[in-house]
Amino acid sequence: MEPVLVVGASVGGSIAANTLRELGVEVILLERDLNYVKPCGGAVPPLVFSEYHLPEDLIDRKVKTAVVASPRQMSEFPVASSHPSDRDFIAMVRREKFDRFIRQRAVERGATLIEGKFTGLQIGPSGVQVTYEDKRRRAQHVQAAAVIGADGAYSAVAKALGLERLPMAVAYQERIRLPAHTMQYWEQRAALYLGDDVSPDLYAWVFPKYDHVAAGIGAGAGKTQHARDLLNNLKSRLKDQLGEGESILFEAHHLPMHPRKHLSYDRVALIGDAAGLVQATSGEGIYWAMKSGEMAARAIAAHLDNPSAEHLRRDYDAQWWKRYRPTYTFLQLLQRISYNSDTQREIFAAMCQDPDVQRLTFDSYLAKHIEPAPWSVQMKITGHWLSTAIHELIVERFGSPRHGPSLLHRSQSN
Ligand SMILES: Cc1cc2nc3c(=O)[nH]c(=O)nc-3n(C[C@H](O)[C@H](O)[C@H](O)COP(=O)(O)OP(=O)(O)OC[C@H]3O[C@@H](n4cnc5c(N)ncnc54)[C@H](O)[C@@H]3O)c2cc1C
Repeated sequence: MEPVLVVGASVGGSIAANTLRELGVEVILLERDLNYVKPCGGAVPPLVFSEYHLPEDLIDRKVKTAVVASPRQMSEFPVASSHPSDRDFIAMVRREKFDRFIRQRAVERGATLIEGKFTGLQIGPSGVQVTYEDKRRRAQHVQAAAVIGADGAYSAVAKALGLERLPMAVAYQERIRLPAHTMQYWEQRAALYLGDDVSPDLYAWVFPKYDHVAAGIGAGAGKTQHARDLLNNLKSRLKDQLGEGESILFEAHHLPMHPRKHLSYDRVALIGDAAGLVQATSGEGIYWAMKSGEMAARAIAAHLDNPSAEHLRRDYDAQWWKRYRPTYTFLQLLQRISYNSDTQREIFAAMCQDPDVQRLTFDSYLAKHIEPAPWSVQMKITGHWLSTAIHELIVERFGSPRHGPSLLHRSQSN
């Protein structure tokens, strides 16, 4: 039997290769540049470490406090789910270390790693002929039973299938080394900043790494040329927390903002960013790339003799959406009602102070599963949302109410 060829040896591709090897399938892992480091905030739920048996020394920091700041208010609250445990944290990793480990493990389990750039494919009745350029820019050919496109937002595999490029946002990030006394503030803290001044369509962030922080912004279509200005605005909002820092790296990359209609085609499955599986609301894509890599690999291994679009769509696409459609739908709705104007962002930031909202948010982030809240909690949240929305609309229309609540409040819920 011909091997399965996985294009892209980052998080998604390496998990796909690893899963195929566990199922006894021959794999070639083709990576354009083995020294490439994916620009990324590196925030992952701890679930990734248990599900994929990863050592926790890959974690730089365990974030236990989250900060959400809109132009007029800031809330700070613990990372705590409905069932408190020592797994209630956001793991911060550096992709240079994280990706290398996962890729190396796939190789140790028998995947053949080739450094080369995928350039095209031809699908036939009994297999796929893949063409790539080796390091000396010579064209090479390899015959595969099936292909997994794990080659990210600009996927050449998707292009070779004749698919259009997905709508994209750009994420732009600076890594900043801070003096010890400033780093102390970020040791267990990660922050999201909302506002037209820092991120017109998404949010800006500061995530801690082992000896530095990553500060970044997201900008939607048409606003990418302002990315540097937006990042400068973020840094001036955060003079006290980022001041005296030394800039060590600038990174930028596109993020797909919409999943593809189909994840599978005859003998080809797309995963992770190549399939548009990033959560548009949060820009979270690492877990989704790994999970889709695993599920696509399982579907291909089950149909190695005939990995037709029909088989793969039944065992990968349909299974994926059955499991995760509620999560994507909920987060898309959240984005629509939270990020489109400063009033919406104020409502969102105010709602983040609600302990029920905090718990539901972390339940779904940490467990990657959306469980409807009890009716009583849903009613409470709806009531709170309505009163907050009315308050923010009054503030927008008439300015600060004289005796209304303070415009800058912090909360620390338990
Ligand atoms: C600035 C920024 C911050 C982010 N922060 C977070 C975060 O905090 N948490 C989170 O979960 N997600 C975050 N994301 C999203 C996350 O980085 C991606 O969703 C994730 O890396 C997708 O993984 P992937 O395996 O699908 O593709 P990628 O990680 O993009 O990897 C694609 C791989 O394919 C290779 N490749 C490309 N073309 C070819 C070719 N022609 N031939 C061979 N190989 C090829 C590339 O070299 C690369 O190794 C962030 C993204 C950005 C841009």
